[in-house]
Amino acid sequence: MNIHHLDCGCMCPFGGMLFDGTTRGLFAHLVCHCWLIETDHDGLVLVDTGFGNADVNNPLRIAPFFRRLNNIKFKHSLTALSHVKRLGFEPSDVRHIVLTHLDFDHAGGLSDFPDAMIHVLQNEYTAAKTLDNWRAVRRYREPQWQRSRYWRFYEPEGEQWKGFSSVRPVLQSDMDLLMVPLPGHSSGHAGIAVNTQGHWKLHAGDAYFHHDEVHKPQRHCPPGLRFYQRMMDHDHAARVATQNSLRALALTELEGLQIMCSHDKVELLDRQVG
Ligand SMILES: [Zn+2]
Repeated sequence: MNIHHLDCGCMCPFGGMLFDGTTRGLFAHLVCHCWLIETDHDGLVLVDTGFGNADVNNPLRIAPFFRRLNNIKFKHSLTALSHVKRLGFEPSDVRHIVLTHLDFDHAGGLSDFPDAMIHVLQNEYTAAKTLDNWRAVRRYREPQWQRSRYWRFYEPEGEQWKGFSSVRPVLQSDMDLLMVPLPGHSSGHAGIAVNTQGHWKLHAGDAYFHHDEVHKPQRHCPPGLRFYQRMMDHDHAARVATQNSLRALALTELEGLQIMCSHDKVELLDRQVG
């Protein structure tokens, strides 16, 4: 099994280093870190999709509030579909898409793979369909997934895994690919864990935004990302508890375990060269 670490989006909010902690100049740089997993029996599995070609062609699919706040740079070259083709695969080779959640910056590429099976927590899909507050209306964009015909929903029940509960296997094959609820950021937010050659990798989605939030004994987060996370919190206390659990896991399981999030440029570069 081989994992490709893809950058499927570019967001450059105002604030530079004050926003993301690393980028010099007036504007920050947030990536959309997605995985493309080559499996033995289940084709290609995409974990999150970033922005898709329809977002690039029609940025109005994204709510003006987030388009402007995040200063999104729409590029065909960054879409998951472009990465899949560049790596020599056909779009139809992507048979499964596993989502950390359905926010606009994670689900945009779904419309490029309408025949793939979409895996997501039930609560997330329900919230995205219900749109019961001003933030939900702007974060969830139904045109991004209305072409998707095949869905598999996961209830919050299952096994324990490294201190996290209600963990469910995603595929029926013997591959270790797990849906790990990481509550707080959105109604049904999850991490995706995969075991490759005896070592676990955990894609934590938007459970945190800056590496020093979980990879240091004390949380550190630049003010811009602190503000953004607070604004997006579905359940603030749950998000804080999730980060605390991730930090504890990162500190106790340094050997072989890799934890990464969606929007940290430094983490993505580390994984791409490592
Ligand atoms: Zn995000």
